[in-house]
Amino acid sequence: MRTNRSREHLADEILAAFLDGEVSKSQIRAIQNHLNLCWKCRSALAELETAAEATSRLLAERSKDEIDRSLQARERFLRWKAAFEARELFFFKCHPPQWAFAGGVLA
Ligand SMILES: [Zn+2]
Repeated sequence: MRTNRSREHLADEILAAFLDGEVSKSQIRAIQNHLNLCWKCRSALAELETAAEATSRLLAERSKDEIDRSLQARERFLRWKAAFEARELFFFKCHPPQWAFAGGVLA
């Protein structure tokens, strides 16, 4: 990795690896040395950091939305099931089984 030349700017991949903690200790030192001297790479790193935060925030929100959606679907199903069961109960209260037999439904 060519990060140690302080005159060369750090590549985005290197900055990203640095952010993710995927660089060795000596590389961290070299990168930090360069960052201390170079505002351009510092701002690139800040941009990457912001982008990474936004991405993880987006992912977190999306999975929260998905959880909400599945919870809502489950609630809807349970409400529908309860309503269905209540209706079924109501049906049998109003229409005793003899009616069903007489009507040939359960014969
Ligand atoms: Zn630089």
